[in-house]
Amino acid sequence: MLEKVPGRKVTGPASTDWEIPGMTTVAAYAAPAAKAPLERTTIERRAVGPHDVLIDIKYAGICHSDIHQVNEGWGESIFPMVPGHEIAGVVSEVGAEVTKFKVGDRVGVGCMVDSCRECEYCLRGEEQYCVKGNIPTYNGIGKDGQPTYGGYSEKVVVDEAFVVRIPDSLPLDVAAPLLCAGITTYSPLKHWNAGPGKKVAIVGLGGLGHMAVKLAHAMGAEVTVLSQSLRKKDDGLKLGADHYHATSDPKTFEELAGTFDLIVSTVSAPMDFGALLSLLRVDGALVNVGAPEEPVSLNLFSVIGGRKTLAGSAIGGIAETQEMLDFCAEHNIGAEIELIRADQINEAYDRVLASDVRYRFVIDTSTI
Ligand code: NAP
Ligand code: ZN
Ligand code: ZN
Repeated sequence: MLEKVPGRKVTGPASTDWEIPGMTTVAAYAAPAAKAPLERTTIERRAVGPHDVLIDIKYAGICHSDIHQVNEGWGESIFPMVPGHEIAGVVSEVGAEVTKFKVGDRVGVGCMVDSCRECEYCLRGEEQYCVKGNIPTYNGIGKDGQPTYGGYSEKVVVDEAFVVRIPDSLPLDVAAPLLCAGITTYSPLKHWNAGPGKKVAIVGLGGLGHMAVKLAHAMGAEVTVLSQSLRKKDDGLKLGADHYHATSDPKTFEELAGTFDLIVSTVSAPMDFGALLSLLRVDGALVNVGAPEEPVSLNLFSVIGGRKTLAGSAIGGIAETQEMLDFCAEHNIGAEIELIRADQINEAYDRVLASDVRYRFVIDTSTI
């Protein structure tokens, strides 16, 4: 017997197709197969359940993680894939038992749309480290057994527990990238106590890197950018950096040896982590958030001398994401964006891969 799950398209035994009432067909941009260009298509969104909100997506940021996954750089992906986990929009319908949101609220959705909600980490608000694995906004399987589709689309249905509020003072377009680039850098900066009296280096001035500079500066740290070249130096200083150095210049590593309390690497390609570790003070930490497709090798003497920490960090929990948005509103922080039409997504991907992004591409989803 077929089980009727609300919102799921069910195929009947006599090859009868029907849709459960309440499902919505929406336009989206999807990669039909690995490494294929994205193209316009339609997808089904589930019926709005009692705890769900329907969001009219206004803007969706392009994260380098979207490109890694379209290209199957991290392993097998699910296709067709509608990427996008930097979602900003407006609530257009709420389920009967929704308490956090009402129609018209300005909201965001980041990299997760659910988790087990009962493990140690979920209970302490670190759903990103859920022992059963959180449910990613796209390229995952939802609790209804269906693939999840992300923000490069007109609408999305998400459980209110995984939706955050975008403060009124933050325009939605520059807020969208905060949902991944913002929280992914805010979380480690806070966890490793970036603040007054701390010397913090940010490696890579792309989507994550430029947010890290703004956030670390607002937290009161002395901020240094370590970029491949000095090409973006003026921008880096305007974003709030106190110093700017090129990693391509060997003198950088001589001058800055033993300098930093904290280094956050946002680089999307394999890096010389030994060289970065040499820039830490005793007890300093190098926190990697970049997710390159290939492994890196490291001489472990780089951490032994100086009792150094090499750590990683993944996005942030839902409560911390709300905290980050409120912090950004208080400090008037949004992303630096290039607003694009949906038919420019493939070109934008090429530019991100060429480190030619200033500093986040954001899709105007009304053009889908
Ligand atoms: P992005 O906008 O492309 O920025 C990456 C930056 O890294 C580039 O702008 C470039 O900065 C630098 N870079 C690129 N290739 C390099 C190379 N070969 N050598 C040295 N530096 C290089 O990407 P993003 O969206 O910020 O994402 C960065 C990485 O973080 C990606 O791997 C992404 O998947 C990952 N990520 C992780 C999490 C997490 O939870 N940990 C969350 C989101 C994203 P310069 O031009 O200044 O050198
Ligand atoms: Zn991301
Ligand atoms: Zn859990």
